[in-house]
Amino acid sequence: MIQNDLQQIEYKIEQAIQGSKLSADHVTLIAVTKQLSVDQTKVVVEAGLKHLGENRPEGLLPKQAEIGSSVTWHFIGSLQTRKVKDLINTIDYLHSLDRMSLADEIQKRAQQPVRCFIQVNVSGESSKHGLADTELSNFIQQIASYDKILPIGLMTMAPADASEEDIRKQFKRLRELRDEMNQTGHLKQPMTELSMGMSGDYEIAIEEGATFVRIGTALVGSIKE
Ligand SMILES: *Cc1c(COP(=O)(O)O)cnc(C)c1O
Repeated sequence: MIQNDLQQIEYKIEQAIQGSKLSADHVTLIAVTKQLSVDQTKVVVEAGLKHLGENRPEGLLPKQAEIGSSVTWHFIGSLQTRKVKDLINTIDYLHSLDRMSLADEIQKRAQQPVRCFIQVNVSGESSKHGLADTELSNFIQQIASYDKILPIGLMTMAPADASEEDIRKQFKRLRELRDEMNQTGHLKQPMTELSMGMSGDYEIAIEEGATFVRIGTALVGSIKE
């Protein structure tokens, strides 16, 4: 039952917040509904979830058409440049800003400033999207004049097969990178957010300072059964 899973996850989030000095006082739970149909997604909303995450425009748009702006919409997947115009003015947060061509297209198409997480490939795995940590400072400098992009924080995905120790190192690195970037002088406003942590690693992410966790399977998986 989603109610039970939600209760458990909220409890574990609270425990993780209280168990670490590095944690934020508040963590936003994003329900990742990419595996669910429109009707199944309505069940998630009825259970009280206020933030939904989708990773493909084809998944997002029909759900937005039915559910509307009663929830906050997060686009968490890698975004093709040619799809930007379809969704950039309907989402509340973009978690996957990872290249200049995408930044250029957002600057061109967005009617309002868009809250963006810059995606970083902390693990260095070639299969993962995201900027290398060494590219980050330059990227932030380049987008500094883009008034349609509000860089609010950094996002990463830890490899599914990494050890707990490795995962923790990567989340810690993302936090340090955010803090380093806030010292560069390229940002008009400091970045305060960290989008990290999924079903298997959200407690570690929170202990390392996550402010947004993106949870699919552990939270909404029962709806599919
Ligand atoms: C699917 C997905 C998630 C959620 O994954 P689970 O392991 O099901 O919790 C989180 N973030 C991104 C970017 C995803 O694509």
